[in-house]
Amino acid sequence: MDEIKGVPLLDLKRQHDPLREEVLEVFGEIWDSNWFCLGPKVKELEETLAEYSGATHGIGCASGSDALLLALMACDVGPGDEVILPSFTFFATASAVTRLGATPVFADIKPTTFNIDPDDIAAKLSTATKAIIPVHLFGQCAEMDRINELAQSVGAKVIEDAAQSIGAEWNGQRAGSIGDIGCFSFYPTKNLGGAGDGGMLTACDEQLADRLNLLRGHGMRPRYYHKEIGVNSRLDAFQAAVLIIKMRHLDRYVEMRQTNAARYATLFAQAGLTDWLELPPEEDGRRHVWNQYVVRIGEGRRDELRAFMAEAKVGSEIYYPLGLHQQECFQYLGYSADSLPETLRAADEVLALPIFPELTAEEQERVVDRIAKYHASLGGASRAA
Ligand SMILES: *Cc1c(COP(=O)(O)O)cnc(C)c1O
Repeated sequence: MDEIKGVPLLDLKRQHDPLREEVLEVFGEIWDSNWFCLGPKVKELEETLAEYSGATHGIGCASGSDALLLALMACDVGPGDEVILPSFTFFATASAVTRLGATPVFADIKPTTFNIDPDDIAAKLSTATKAIIPVHLFGQCAEMDRINELAQSVGAKVIEDAAQSIGAEWNGQRAGSIGDIGCFSFYPTKNLGGAGDGGMLTACDEQLADRLNLLRGHGMRPRYYHKEIGVNSRLDAFQAAVLIIKMRHLDRYVEMRQTNAARYATLFAQAGLTDWLELPPEEDGRRHVWNQYVVRIGEGRRDELRAFMAEAKVGSEIYYPLGLHQQECFQYLGYSADSLPETLRAADEVLALPIFPELTAEEQERVVDRIAKYHASLGGASRAA
């Protein structure tokens, strides 16, 4: 019998092997320089990434989670304040809020893009709203015009969670420069991934950038004199070196992801599956950078399909199986599960398929074939039926 040829959800080796020599050479230089925390490499990355994102300032930090925390600190978010954010996002978006003693206010999503619904933000806006955190989920920007307008109407700040969306655009503007502060993550699964943890903040306001800079280094200025209580959240030179090298390839990686997304659309249409599963749309006026390719499978079939794919070693993942309002640790906030119906439905239906840049056309065909096989096993029921 033939060995099963699977398809990985993500294979970093294909991206990293060709960079090996270049990375190890710079690692040697950093080792010899003995400058490990912040320093010239980090500064170079901060400048490159800020420019790439259309911002004037970049501030490196230890992770995307820390970036969110620092951004909220710089907006003076604390006890008694409310921060509006989507429930359908990674945990860190909300935990940054609660760590500062503020209250997360969960908004529902638009079913098409999975991004926060501005109408629900409008419904939840109050005089206590200190900030709004739109998450540019899966690589596509949230509706930033309306979100900025709503924030301005109550004097709230807009913090973009751009962890999944470096280089994504909204009407020609890049993620990280559309709101007041942008938060990026370099966790290895992101579009620009390091060799460990790392993060970055972007801002266009000089004072805000200065405050972020101060806060990431214990609020210390000058040395051993502390203006305010900050945190230790530094990016290190090794991470910066890897990221500087990978930034040179980032637009090519994005194009490869876009090609893969377009190929899925063609393959699913050819297989006659587009009435049964719902493909992710690319909205007008946006540059979608496809950190994830997320389809919807209704009728309660998602988990069964995922298991069927796993039998053939075809990778997939569920981002996210629960809305944050349904998480055990947030029950104290008192949301009922069905208070955010689109979040609830998305959590039941979403399935992320392999989309990484180096994925081959042949592998994509295998992903689609496997899904088609499952669909056929149902007797070809269509979504409309
Ligand atoms: C990955 C991610 C984060 C957290 O980034 P880390 O670097 O892992 O701390 C925050 N928000 C979203 C939407 C993410 O996907």
